[in-house]
Amino acid sequence: MLEPLIRSSLPRFQALYDRAPSPARDLLTSARGWFLTRVRYGPETSALLEELRIHELWCASDVYFYQLSALSAVVDFARRTVPFYASYPDAPIRTFADLRALPVLSRETLRRNTSLFLSSTVPPRSRIRAGTTGTTGANLSVAYTEELARANWALLLRQWSWAGVSPREPRVTFFGARVVPQTRDVPPFWTHNFPERQTLASIFHLSEKTAPHYLDFLDLHSGEVLEGFPSVLSILADFVLARGWPIPMRVIFTSGEPLYPEAREKISRAFSARVFDSYGMTEYCGLIHQCEAGGMHLVPEFGFLEILNDCDEPVGPGEEGHFVWTGFLNRAMPLLRYRIGDHGRWQPGPPCECGRAFPLVVPTITRESDVLRCPDGRLFSPRALNQFLKQTASLRCCQFVHAAPGRIVIRAVPGGSRAPEEAAILREQLQSLLGLQFRVTFEFAAEPLTRPGGKIPLILNQVHS
Ligand SMILES: [Zn+2]
Repeated sequence: MLEPLIRSSLPRFQALYDRAPSPARDLLTSARGWFLTRVRYGPETSALLEELRIHELWCASDVYFYQLSALSAVVDFARRTVPFYASYPDAPIRTFADLRALPVLSRETLRRNTSLFLSSTVPPRSRIRAGTTGTTGANLSVAYTEELARANWALLLRQWSWAGVSPREPRVTFFGARVVPQTRDVPPFWTHNFPERQTLASIFHLSEKTAPHYLDFLDLHSGEVLEGFPSVLSILADFVLARGWPIPMRVIFTSGEPLYPEAREKISRAFSARVFDSYGMTEYCGLIHQCEAGGMHLVPEFGFLEILNDCDEPVGPGEEGHFVWTGFLNRAMPLLRYRIGDHGRWQPGPPCECGRAFPLVVPTITRESDVLRCPDGRLFSPRALNQFLKQTASLRCCQFVHAAPGRIVIRAVPGGSRAPEEAAILREQLQSLLGLQFRVTFEFAAEPLTRPGGKIPLILNQVHS
């Protein structure tokens, strides 16, 4: 039960961590890794993974009955223990259609009533808290449990097995952890988590100037597993391709952002490896994993997916609609019929060549963002800037507009009383990150800026065409 305490204390430790010399940072990262490893690789995890691998033999009706029973259990649990659902109709779930007696839950409703979604069965000390900014850049605070983190890890290990990767194979990670102080301008831009044989690299130090260091680093780790945000791996792939020869990696896992076909091709070419994508969210109510045959499979043990049109009616095969998830595993904050804001469609046609009966889903790319290019050569992926939004709670939608040379406008739709205060802090943080090369200003707006197709980019570059 230490994970909730550690997670909530992490922001306070960041300053101490940043001041530590590099070997000490390795030690601190490994200490953190050791706790995570206990959650991820307990005896329960291997038993669970074994069971999950058996599920791969399921036929379509096995999937149906498993999901039906899990749905019925979570709806019953939520109604009994979560204040928000107390008034929901008390109708049993005997078929998937019965679920439609319950209302669809919007992200905004959840954001405004977060505390009402907490189950009374999970005491505060057992809740792990996390922030997410979703597809619109509006912050939401969610809670989950250690059991869920473990199950999530076991499911990830199952996807690794589809790629032929065993637990604890050496890997290089490019996600959002601040592993190196922002002011650092010489290597190392990475730190080690020895218990998991993992090297965590900073996504905040990528620049034309540091590119040779990142290339040397990746050369040194050639042959290992590579994982990260697609936009970050895409920047690295550009470095590699510009140099002229690839850095072969074992296999690549992407998540946390949509993966564009061009980015997939580029990343795969730069690292001479296959890319396995996945779709998930911090609300932990749905999961999609790509298999070795390329199919994007709904993970049936994780949650139930409905794809609905604007009138909340199910769409036909191949037709695009809103993702509406009911998560099975989060006992701290169960979400029923949660419309997350992402879109996609069921993939019609024959079952996947991999032979698994897990349904095939195609998520639509909803956020087409630019990369922020600084005059000093630094490159910020949308996910790097996104990390700054996780502390905000009163901004409904936030975008970074590179409006003119040397000028960044943070453009936000206010969504709470603390919006001006949070906006000021955000502006200050971004200004200190970018330094004197940019003047960062802030403005409130009624609506976000959109691109054709309704896409809401996080970063808009109005300077470079
Ligand atoms: Zn498949």
